[in-house]
This record gives sequence, C-alpha cells and structure tokens, in this order.
Amino acid sequence: MCKKISSFTFLFILLTFFSLPILFFQLKNSFLLFFSFFGYVIFFLLVYGIYYRERRLSIVENLIQQELNERHNILEKEKKHLLELDRALKLKIKNYARLEKFTEDLNHETSLDRSSDLIVREVSELFGSRGNVLLYLINEKSRKLELRSINKENESQKFKEKTGDLFDHWVLRHNQPLLVEDVANDFRFDPDRIRQEVVRPLGSLICLPLETPTNSLGILRLDAPVPDFYHADDLRFLSVIADIVELSLENALYFSHMQELSITDGLTGIYLRRYALERLKEEFLRAEREKTPFSFLMVDIDHFKKINDSYGHMAGDVVLKKVARMLKESFHLPGGVVGRFGGEEFCVVLPYILKAEALKLAENFCRILSGREIILRREKVNVTVSIGVASFPLDAQKEEDLIRLADEALFKAKRGGRNRAC
Ligand code: GH3
Ligand code: MG
Ligand code: MG
Repeated sequence: MCKKISSFTFLFILLTFFSLPILFFQLKNSFLLFFSFFGYVIFFLLVYGIYYRERRLSIVENLIQQELNERHNILEKEKKHLLELDRALKLKIKNYARLEKFTEDLNHETSLDRSSDLIVREVSELFGSRGNVLLYLINEKSRKLELRSINKENESQKFKEKTGDLFDHWVLRHNQPLLVEDVANDFRFDPDRIRQEVVRPLGSLICLPLETPTNSLGILRLDAPVPDFYHADDLRFLSVIADIVELSLENALYFSHMQELSITDGLTGIYLRRYALERLKEEFLRAEREKTPFSFLMVDIDHFKKINDSYGHMAGDVVLKKVARMLKESFHLPGGVVGRFGGEEFCVVLPYILKAEALKLAENFCRILSGREIILRREKVNVTVSIGVASFPLDAQKEEDLIRLADEALFKAKRGGRNRAC
C-alpha cells in the first residue's frame, strides 16, 4: 500500500517538474514569476515531505511485520512443543491405566508359563508393539538364563540366543539396567563378539535385571534392528514395569515349584503314580478322539530286594535314581510320561507308538541297562529290568485293562527269565 502511494507521489512530482517550466515561460511578470517559483518550491518541499514520511512509515511497517513474523514462528514452535507434550502426557496416562490392569491380571496368574506370556505381550503393547520383547528366567538347576517367552510368535526359532547373549550376560553380571542406543558404536561391547553371538540384526536395546531382595529371577529385554530406537525414557518406563513383574514372577515360580513337588517323586524326580495315571487317562481320551495308537509299559527292577540286602537301602536308592534317569532319557518323546508306579516299579506312556515299536524300544532299553555297570560300595553291579508292554487299541480299549495287560506281560517277562520285554 505504502509502496503504491510512494510511486504515485513520485510520478506526481515528475509531472509537476516537467509541466511548471512551461508555465514559467508563459508568465511575463517577474513578481508573478517569483511568486510562482516560490510556490513551486513550497509545493515541492511539501510533496517531498509526504514522500519521505511515507517511506519512513513503510520501513517501520516492514520492521513491525518482520518482528510479528518472528513472534509468530516462536509461538508456532511453542504450540508444536506443547502439543507434543500433551500427546506424550496422554500416552503416559493411558499407559499407566493399562499398567494398573496389567498388575491386576498378573496378580491373578499363578502359572509361570501364562505369567511369562502375559508379561511379554503387555510389554510389547505398552511399547506400541515396537521391537522384540524377550523374557529370560534363570534355570534353578543350571543357574543359566533360559528364553521363556518372546513377543514374536512362531519366530522363536529365529532367536538363537536361547541362553542370552553378551548383553544379557552383562546385565546379569553387573546386576544393573543396560541401555545401548547404538549397538555398533558402544565402547563397552566388542563388535567382533557381537557379530559372533548375535545373528539377527540388532541396532538398539534395553535390558533390565529382574530380581527380588533374595533372589535373582532373570532379565527382561527389548531390542530393535535399528540404532537410536530406545532412549532413557524407555528405560525408565521399563523399570516401572520390571518392579511390577518381579513380585508376580517370584510368586509364579514358587507356585510352579510347589506344583512340581506335588506331582514328582522326591527320590527319583519322575512323576508320582497318581499323576502318571492321570496323564494315562488324558492319553486315552486323546487317542480315542484322534483315533491314534499309543503304548503303555510296566517296568520292574529284577531282584531288587537282593540289591537292598547286599548293598544296603541307600545303594538301592542309587539304583532307583539311575534306572529312573535312564528311563527318562530313553523314552523322551513329545507327550510321553515316565512315572514311579511304586517301590521299584515304573510305568511309561508312549503316545503314537504301535505295539511292535514299543516292544523294540523296551528290548533296547533292557539291553542298554544290562550293559551298564553301576558302582555300589566300590563294586560294579549290573542291574536288569523286566518290561511288560500293552497297546491301545490293539490290546485294550479301557484304561484298567491296559494296565492289567501290561502287568500280566511283565509277570510273563519275569517268569521267562527276567531282563526282557514281553
Ligand atoms: P523281582 O525280580 O521279582 O521283581 O524281585 P524283587 O526283589 O525286585 O521284588 P520284591 O517285590 O520282592 O522286592 C522289592 C523291594 O523293593 C522291596 C522293598 O524293600 C524295596 N523297595 C521299595 N521301595 C524302595 C525304595 O524306595 N528304596 C529302596 N532302597 N528299596 C525299596
Ligand atoms: Mg522287582
Ligand atoms: Mg516289584
């Protein structure tokens, strides 16, 4: 607007400049000439004054406009920042509300498997399903980490670090949280070792020890294939989750331990008769439903009384443990059950195994066991067993019949000279 006025004024001055001399030539009277010239100067000064004022105004206006623009930009930035804060705050509120529900669910869960899966699922959701979530627990016997649950279903085979990698072991050793924003550029870890131990792409991770005041339980880990994926904020939030998880995990571990104790035999570590028979019942139902076969073995140590009498009851216990361990190793099948039926008698359930194959497996076991020497009171002793085999549906369609027939077959094996399967 100002510019328009200025150019207009300038044009007007130019026109006046060129038109007035023409007027001077017309006027002969010197007084009039002087008066006109004086008037012309006044007019010129007046017009120039207006022009000058307009220019000043235009400069000031520009300056104000610039400052307004700057202020507008600052305010825009502040608005953006506030909007981000608002979004983050809303997310936090949502997450903490979710945490409350998660805590409740976790407190109701006593199964270790279900608790582990719930933890991994919830952590994955709380972090917006970003990256991998892995839960490792310490195996009570080996004291090593064991991958317990992972958020990528059916992909666990891709995770080769079933007992943890160098980052997990670092956390366990130092007993402190770990944040690695860029795996390739972290001075604490040797890049060659990372390449050796971690097969999948890894750019960023956070890892926390899970522990109670008396017990180290395992670790909770989040990792992503790209660097700068996790930051201090994520670590803080995961620490809150870890605090919730620790107590529930300890409860679940304790519960599972108690459950294990109630179904396993204290001496041999295999299932008690009651539980083994329950599993046999389940196997019956499954086999009937799926119309598939399975076999049942009754195993009895030969002349066990003699071992007790010759080497003592403690030596007898050693033999029981040894035979139980070998049975577990030899008949290790998916869904298979090895139980202590009572005294020096054991039972084995072999799902999907036909009678002929079961008999072969049993004979094989007799051969392997009789070939092993057990040291009892510094003496090498050969222990043998007799085995009775019965199968569903070939021999029996009822549970009691199957047990009775296997027992009869065992009796036959004893009568036949022992160290054999019938
Ligand atoms: P067979 O070849 O006919 O089976 O003879 P056996 O001597 O093995 O059978 P018998 O039934 O006569 O003896 C079983 C013995 O097992 C009797 C019992 O004292 C012993 N026994 C049962 N439970 C235990 C146990 O937990 N530890 C020990 N050391 N001995 C046990
Ligand atoms: Mg016996
Ligand atoms: Mg017996």
